[in-house]
Amino acid sequence: MKFGSMLKDVLRSFTQAPVTEKYPFVKKPAPDRLRGKLVWNPEKCSGCCLCSKDCPSDAIELITIDKKAKRFVMRYHADRCTYCAQCVQNCRFECLDMSSTDWELAALTKAPFDVYYGKDEDVDAVLAKLAADKTGEAPA
Ligand code: SF4
Ligand code: SF4
Repeated sequence: MKFGSMLKDVLRSFTQAPVTEKYPFVKKPAPDRLRGKLVWNPEKCSGCCLCSKDCPSDAIELITIDKKAKRFVMRYHADRCTYCAQCVQNCRFECLDMSSTDWELAALTKAPFDVYYGKDEDVDAVLAKLAADKTGEAPA
């Protein structure tokens, strides 16, 4: 780099505002197509498990409570997800999507990365079973 052009850059830096973004204090809207957290709409879910079978990082589990009544719980391991959207493309019933608004997923503990989707009573039943499996006691 020639001295003249370098000097020009130095002088310009005194008069121009920095280009650095002030995130997280100033936030710009994310693009619509941003792939954030996976979201699941269970209404049309058939329980086919195509999403979990096709996930390259084993980030989705579909837990069947009652297949006839279409009661399922989806366990999403956000820390394993590569945000490839393969599951979204493969779901024939358009139950899955990647949020363009919920994408700030950093956390200090592992708990927020273990996400359960479904009806509250179904999620509670699954969590009770997992806790019972850990302790070796029958769920309450
Ligand atoms: S691929 Fe779609 S319909 Fe099949 S289990 Fe997954 S979310 Fe449900
Ligand atoms: S976005 Fe990709 S990695 Fe994440 S759950 Fe779907 S298929 Fe798996």
